[in-house]
Amino acid sequence: MMDVPGEILLVSCYELGHQPLTLASPLALLRADGFAPVSVDTSVSELTDEVIRAARLVAISVPMHTALRLGARVAERVRAAHPSAHICFYGLYASLNADYLLREHADFVIGGEYEAALLGLARALASGDVSPSVPGVRTRAVDAPPVLARLPFVQPERASLPTAKSYAHLVRGDEVVPAGYVEASRGCLHTCRHCPITPVYGGRFFIVPRGVVLADIRAQVAAGVRHITFGDPDFLNGPGHSLAIVRALHAEFPDVTFDATIKIEHILERRDVFPELAALGCAFVVSAVESLSAEVLRHLKKGHTRADVAEALTILDDAGIPMRPTFVAFTPWTTARAYVDVLDFIAEHDLIEHVDPVQYTIRLLVPPGSALLEEADATTWLGPLDEPNFTYQWAHPDPRMDDMQRAVAALVERETVAQRDNASIFAAIRALAEEMLGVPASARTWGTQRGGVATKRRPVPHLTEAWFC
Ligand code: SF4
Repeated sequence: MMDVPGEILLVSCYELGHQPLTLASPLALLRADGFAPVSVDTSVSELTDEVIRAARLVAISVPMHTALRLGARVAERVRAAHPSAHICFYGLYASLNADYLLREHADFVIGGEYEAALLGLARALASGDVSPSVPGVRTRAVDAPPVLARLPFVQPERASLPTAKSYAHLVRGDEVVPAGYVEASRGCLHTCRHCPITPVYGGRFFIVPRGVVLADIRAQVAAGVRHITFGDPDFLNGPGHSLAIVRALHAEFPDVTFDATIKIEHILERRDVFPELAALGCAFVVSAVESLSAEVLRHLKKGHTRADVAEALTILDDAGIPMRPTFVAFTPWTTARAYVDVLDFIAEHDLIEHVDPVQYTIRLLVPPGSALLEEADATTWLGPLDEPNFTYQWAHPDPRMDDMQRAVAALVERETVAQRDNASIFAAIRALAEEMLGVPASARTWGTQRGGVATKRRPVPHLTEAWFC
């Protein structure tokens, strides 16, 4: 058996500042089956050797690249402190990096819709099977594709997690309120080439039953949350489902606001829903603009153009919903002119307060299995796989762009630590770009106020944790 408290240890390392759903969801499923798992979120709590030594199965959640880098260090600690513990990685980045993880860190890897496979693994280990063959669980001996089937979802178990006060808050004007997190769907209908969801889900998505999502929201509001982030890869993949949930949310909790991630294409296609979303309490929409360059957008297969981004901004503006755009600022196809064009577009559209400065630094990640590996020009920019860093290396054909990326990343880190405001950081980045890339500022934006910022600087609702993948 494995029903002694702590024999199953679930670990999360980083989930964009949210209380980890990737702990709450399997905790509920395992407990419903008679197990007594414990969990540690190392972003807010200490993982002690005592907890590690009590565990027979340590399952580490790795939904994103940063989480995997931190999770690999946790696995090293577990191996050192408790060599006989079984180590499992689960989540999106686990299946992408399965070969390396199984060679260096893990006994088991689970990708895709992971909960049922994790439960199957726990049952097998509890029955004494130390080298189990469980659907969806990959081992050194047994290959198994990621699970892509609808799960028997249960309401996530959050009572034993650190409270919402430990996590990201929503800042709206002078008010700062605890923010919660749910997902109304998983996977994505789209297949953008740079996206880590594409090689795992291949254009499929799964809805989470409305009753499960609403019960989870209810529990979080009862625990003090006043804002909900919908972490679906795209909130309008299933618009009827998503709208029904936010209508019910608003009917039950009219003072609770929400935010969601919606791609530019969907903003244009579903332009009629935004006045209603605003009335239901949508505080802002995150949209993965990624780039404004036609060449970059074609490589990424984003499905939108520079003009579409401007139109989407107008649609949201008219509805009274701020957009918080995200970018992949540096790719092998991003020219110096294209980088500066994004800065000019942001200033011209009065978006400086809408963009977290880290967005100006993001460099394309190419994980194993990425659809970008099939790009016809890959041999011109792609380097070897850097397995311990979970990404392929790549170099820009114009070395100034790689120098610029390093310099802007250092600048943003320094200025953020010094608590400079967005407008000052933006001005410093624009000056750096002019100095390093030799691209003059747009006359329309900068005119005679060289080094200044022509913006209304409106406060924009935002979470206290900057968004990036
Ligand atoms: S980038 Fe967004 S829209 Fe594209 S595949 Fe990923 S989640 Fe879907």
